Amino acid sequence: MTTYRLMMLGPPGAGKGTQAKRLAERFEIPHVSTGDMLRQARRKGTELGKKAAEYMNAGKLVPDEVVIGIVRDRLSEDDAEGGFILDGFPRTRPQAEALTEMGIELDAVVNVVVSDDEVVKRLGGRISCPNCGAVYHKEYNPPAEDDKCDACGQEGLITRDDDKPEAIRSRLSGYHEKTAPLIEYYEAQGALKNIDGESAPDEVTEAIVEELEAN
Ligand code: ADP
Ligand code: ADP
Ligand code: ZN
Repeated sequence: MTTYRLMMLGPPGAGKGTQAKRLAERFEIPHVSTGDMLRQARRKGTELGKKAAEYMNAGKLVPDEVVIGIVRDRLSEDDAEGGFILDGFPRTRPQAEALTEMGIELDAVVNVVVSDDEVVKRLGGRISCPNCGAVYHKEYNPPAEDDKCDACGQEGLITRDDDKPEAIRSRLSGYHEKTAPLIEYYEAQGALKNIDGESAPDEVTEAIVEELEAN
């Protein structure tokens, strides 16, 4: 089976996590989400988690050196040897350069294109499972039973603190300022695949797989 070293690029709320989970299953590669790893560290109250929390809660980016260290450690684990899907990293030019310095060449950078208006609607309705991390949307992708996680049965889905309106605005402007320039950076390297992220999740997945398999 073909394996891939992939990266998801796009604004917060574009559906990167939703798509990355599906692609990880499909291609049997680990889903490496810096947001998930940082939230886990925050939950456990580790030094790293405490340091990251102030930034995350305010909708700001965690300092580059912190995130780069986490990703370097994760990608050096055995299961990432055959391929992986990066979700939420790199988010700045120095992070992208650090990835290259780790000797990693990406097969494709999947840029999920979604308008700012759609981002606000998606983040405003996002709810997730405090137990297993499964992600839903109040209107677009509700769980089968009200307020109960389909995946693990947990009751009481929650809204992330950084999905409150002030933090959403801060994250979107951070995206435009620091992350969007990576579109050109990867385009210049010939790795970029632009995908329309505004259609239904299944259609987005199929569009990504088609792009990957066209090469
Ligand atoms: P999103 O829904 O915006 O894609 P994530 O779950 O990827 O959110 O990230 C949540 C928060 O974790 C970010 O707002 C930021 O504070 C922090 N974070 C995650 N990845 C990075 C990164 N690569 N660089 C800096 N901060 C990060
Ligand atoms: P990201 O990881 O880019 O921040 P998520 O995968 O968490 O994005 O998705 C953000 C919100 O939008 C979630 O509530 C999710 O259920 C919803 N969502 C994801 N993809 C779609 C889609 N194609 N159409 C409508 N809603 C979507
Ligand atoms: Zn759950």
